[in-house]
Amino acid sequence: MADHEALHIKGGILVGPQDVRDQLWVVGGRITYRRPAAEPAGTVTGWVLPGLVDAHCHVGLEAHGAVEPDVAERQALTDRAAGALLLRDAGSPSDTRWTDERADLPKIIRAGRHIARTRRYIRNYAHEIEPGDLAAYVRREARRGDGWVKLVGDWIDRETGDLAPCWPKDALAEAMDAAHQEGARVTAHCFAEESLADLVEAGIDCVEHATGLTDDTIPLFAAHGVAIVPTLVNIATFPQLAEGGRTRYPRWTDHMLRLHRRRYDTVRDAHDAGIAVYAGTDAGGGLPHGLIAAEVAELVTAGLPVAAALSAATWGARDWLGRPGLEEGAPADFVVYDEDPRTDVAILGAPRRIVLRGAVLG
Ligand SMILES: [Zn+2]
Repeated sequence: MADHEALHIKGGILVGPQDVRDQLWVVGGRITYRRPAAEPAGTVTGWVLPGLVDAHCHVGLEAHGAVEPDVAERQALTDRAAGALLLRDAGSPSDTRWTDERADLPKIIRAGRHIARTRRYIRNYAHEIEPGDLAAYVRREARRGDGWVKLVGDWIDRETGDLAPCWPKDALAEAMDAAHQEGARVTAHCFAEESLADLVEAGIDCVEHATGLTDDTIPLFAAHGVAIVPTLVNIATFPQLAEGGRTRYPRWTDHMLRLHRRRYDTVRDAHDAGIAVYAGTDAGGGLPHGLIAAEVAELVTAGLPVAAALSAATWGARDWLGRPGLEEGAPADFVVYDEDPRTDVAILGAPRRIVLRGAVLG
């Protein structure tokens, strides 16, 4: 179908969790609720959600570091096939700007490259620096990214053999100020408990994984409006990861297992306290792409209501990232399902049609 031809979508258009319309049209690659003069070239029937958001993934990254563009392209196409049409890239050492010119690939919101403490993260991923350079690196990545900067907030400390914060509080405060001056928000990878209060008090906007949230820090996150992206499909790999390090780092192993055991309670308590929770898979490090439906299902398993879990990957996530959903005039990026996904989030696992910038795919 040519771009200029109109398309008619009928069924249940989920503009919001309670805002359901019965039809929309795609004209010139955009959504309209006004019937066009010309007869549509095609009709698609089903239940429509805004293009899903994977709020934590890595395009152009694999377990050993940066990958070639053909691999990054396959990753993005895998996300697309799963209905993830808006990706928040939570740090990547490779330049994926070329994807911006590709109308057939998901839109990527980048956080530049990870910023980690020297020898305190996975090799080949991050800028590895000391606290005195943090603000300067944050400013630089804020300019390179699309409104986000990614820190590694805690990691294993080989001296103590356990997870430990990576940055002193004064360096964090200076770094957050630098990012905010550049108009960027800051997020941080954190598994453990200890780094969280300092990050919030320094002005962080979001925390990835956030498995270390406790009764002390949950109210702090809620009061400061700090969002979390739990990446439960990744947290599911903690036992295997932890047991692999037991001989050298038994304290770390036990700590990771404790965080894993209480992961669902942590996420549900955070949601219940009013913390914004978004769906992210952490694809591109150890995990494959295309797992967004599985992550939404995990949020429901954790105890989020279905509408909240859906919103974490659709309406709420798009609003948080400043991107439109199914509004009049928005780019026609949406997913069509056979059944109403509000009845069972497993429906997200089988999209009938993907529509990206008005083009019907699959
Ligand atoms: Zn990640």
